[in-house]
Amino acid sequence: MNARTAFRQAFGYEPGGVWSAPGRVNLIGEHTDYNGGLALPIALDYRTYAAASPRADRVVRVRSLQASEGVEISLDDVGPGRVSGWAAYVMGVPWALEQAGFAVGGLDLVIDGQVPLGAGLSSSAALECAVAAAYSALFDLGLMESPEGRAQLVAACRRAENEIAGAPTGGMDQSASLLCAQGHALLLDCRSGATTHVPLALTEADVRVLVIDTKAHHALVDGQYGARRAACEEAAALLGVETLREVGIAGLDDALAQLPDEVMRRRVRHVVTEIDRVTLTADALRAGALAEVGRLFVASHESLRDDFEVSCAELDAAVESALAAGALGARMTGGGFGGSAIALVPGDRLDAVADAVRARFAHNGFGAPDIFSTSAAAGARSEVV
Ligand code: ADP
Ligand code: MG
Repeated sequence: MNARTAFRQAFGYEPGGVWSAPGRVNLIGEHTDYNGGLALPIALDYRTYAAASPRADRVVRVRSLQASEGVEISLDDVGPGRVSGWAAYVMGVPWALEQAGFAVGGLDLVIDGQVPLGAGLSSSAALECAVAAAYSALFDLGLMESPEGRAQLVAACRRAENEIAGAPTGGMDQSASLLCAQGHALLLDCRSGATTHVPLALTEADVRVLVIDTKAHHALVDGQYGARRAACEEAAALLGVETLREVGIAGLDDALAQLPDEVMRRRVRHVVTEIDRVTLTADALRAGALAEVGRLFVASHESLRDDFEVSCAELDAAVESALAAGALGARMTGGGFGGSAIALVPGDRLDAVADAVRARFAHNGFGAPDIFSTSAAAGARSEVV
């Protein structure tokens, strides 16, 4: 059942429209965002749909085809710590828009999300951004029509996630979901907020992006994330720079020589080389040098595994088996300790790579992974129905 049909069944009338926003996967640039660095996400073919109509009052009635219970809540009852569960990702959006000075009101709303939940593919941002697109259109905010307007929606969705859902994430997910263009990766500068579209040219070369959701979630995730972040901040303070971005690849050896501790040196080496690899990957993509992109993926994975120490057995197995079966490159993506890996795979090796990863997981006694290929999809949009 799609969102429009579900809306009609839930509320007994036709929705004013349907909007959608994609999940995302980061091609390269991991643990760089909080260091003022670069990332390079693409939007997935999987999208979250929001069928919606405005209401005259301040009530939001929302159902999700992925949740058993609907929610009915007034905008006047939304604030930090006041909404729990999945509805926080929805209600945070009008809350943040009002905080930014936009006039919005209640909605009837039905959500249908295709992005796998909790797989590191950003179903949360897809949900926020689909709701934001609906709000922009239904309350005549006009924010979807320009890059500047979309950037304001990015900021609102990020505040929704940080302050109402309580998840301390950077803005990469929302930027990808709202700003990506079809056939392009989004080069995101987390220091300036600047974004650039980088053409992928994968179809011409018959190369696909394969996403491997390991289904693994190791409990380490939160504590280790905080520890890595703290190590980066401590290193930046010792080096007298605001963020590790300022070190630069040319300054890496000097910086390492100033740091007292071997573990800290490895953390810094990952961040500085990873930021450099994002630039090199964007250049290689523009040049159509996909074998080089593959090598950069592998170098990124090794750096995350050995220097930043955020990989895990499932992610390593996915990467190793994909490479052995003919992937041009493969790496863990996202924060680590589970979640997803990606591989760059020639079209005629797709099945072989997927089979090899499944066989390795079975052999190692891991649960079955979920494997799919994706194009670089378009960002949030109105769905013509
Ligand atoms: P990720 O963003 O990597 O998928 P998160 O933990 O950040 O993982 O977000 C997942 C959460 O987002 C879910 O637990 C749920 O609360 C909410 N969510 C995402 N999509 C939907 C949906 N279609 N319906 C209801 N809740 C959703
Ligand atoms: Mg998320």
